Amino acid sequence: MSDRYLAFANSPTGRRLVGALGLPAPVRLERWMAGRVRPVDGALLLGGEGDLLKAVLPFANKLTDQLFAARDGQLELPRWTAEHGPKLKALVFDASHLTRFEQLIELRDFFQPTFKGLANSPRVVVLGRAPESLKDPVAASVQRSLEGFTRSLGKEIRRGGSVQLLYVGKGGDQQLEGALRFFLSPKSAYVSGQVLRLGACAEQVRDWTRPLAGKKALVTGASRGIGASIAEVLARDGAEVVLLDVPQAADALQALAARLGGRAVTLDICAEDAPQRLVEALPEGLDIVVHNAGITRDKTLAKMSDAFWNSVIDVNLKAPQVLTQALLDADKLHDNGRVVLIASISGIAGNMGQTNYAVSKAGVIGLAQAWAPALGKKGISINAVAPGFIETQMTAAIPLGIREAGRRMNSMSQGGLPQDVAEAVAWFAQPGSGAVTAQVLRVCGQSLLGA
Ligand code: NAD
Repeated sequence: MSDRYLAFANSPTGRRLVGALGLPAPVRLERWMAGRVRPVDGALLLGGEGDLLKAVLPFANKLTDQLFAARDGQLELPRWTAEHGPKLKALVFDASHLTRFEQLIELRDFFQPTFKGLANSPRVVVLGRAPESLKDPVAASVQRSLEGFTRSLGKEIRRGGSVQLLYVGKGGDQQLEGALRFFLSPKSAYVSGQVLRLGACAEQVRDWTRPLAGKKALVTGASRGIGASIAEVLARDGAEVVLLDVPQAADALQALAARLGGRAVTLDICAEDAPQRLVEALPEGLDIVVHNAGITRDKTLAKMSDAFWNSVIDVNLKAPQVLTQALLDADKLHDNGRVVLIASISGIAGNMGQTNYAVSKAGVIGLAQAWAPALGKKGISINAVAPGFIETQMTAAIPLGIREAGRRMNSMSQGGLPQDVAEAVAWFAQPGSGAVTAQVLRVCGQSLLGA
């Protein structure tokens, strides 16, 4: 599960060789450490002319104590220049005022000078208005074009940086703090080139050091890999966690549950009585459900057996649907609950030898989209997180050649860590994240697959 090339590329000899031969040059990504308070460890530059910056300003000094603006006197902040300013750790550009094609050059004018002044792992967020919310076709096209800009900048930024686009809808400005705390901090280390829509949400995070305090969360497939990390991060953020896995994983599951002060439930999610047993195991109900348990049984379609096809559909797709329905029927999912489904970029891009897996993961995205309107009436959000190549036992089992290709074919030239997926899940699980529903967030280092 270790990436030896990453270590080599960051050694003095490796750096020289990688540069001389033009090989992929992955940098060590910064990740969130427990106990850290400020999301941005350095200078944050605000730019653009739209109304959304006014919503950012009241909490911007909680993100960092080094705030700058792109123009003299803007927002009453000191002006940043590449010559005199500190290295930039984060940039927020409000592009919501752009309605004419001639204005698009403002994107270049703002970002070009910053390239000389970026720190390592810089985080960029562009703010805009969802094209479908605009009546004027030109304005809608201009806002849609921000997607192309964001995704291209993500591929150019390097240094372990990331670039995202947030379309802010009605009421969404009230939830910008949670979104920016995620996208401007190392919590989103392996997320780049993503486009999300923020809407209104009645709930707000009260304590940013423990945003999930008082919440009860269930994580399936929690004995190892990504699931174990999700349980850990949700517990770090204050949630009471119930960890579920198959009976064969009982020892690891119980050990982790004990360490996190949570509870272990051993259950095969495909068992006929799984819905009933799950409901019985959760007398007090739940606020957060994370459907993470998943399997692969790879074969090309020509060689795909019934058993390979059915087992993958049953675990990855049918069980999340059946169990969520059972929790809803038994009234175990509290109002303002959060459901997060773990999909995969295979479900977006498709993958050789994975028709069964891609079907199941595309289906999971379909579940989030299909369920969102009905669940939204109770304030419940449902989203999918689609990991790319994550360093786990699942990917360690991939043959070397394919494994190396999967690892490097992304803007960060490396695989992600289970923590990267877990941080995204934890953000979706927050009270204010009801502002996001029926959406897919890729945690893939901006993988070239399906981009
Ligand atoms: P993993 O194999 O390390 O862990 C999966 C866990 O699910 C295991 O603990 C397993 O016991 C549990 N599980 C499997 N079948 C179960 C069942 N019937 N009932 C209860 N528990 C069951 O895998 P991982 O790499 O940590 O993947 C976690 C999730 O992320 C999966 O849904 C996977 O498809 C998805 N994913 C992983 C990657 C990656 O690169 N590792 C990429 C994209 C998506």
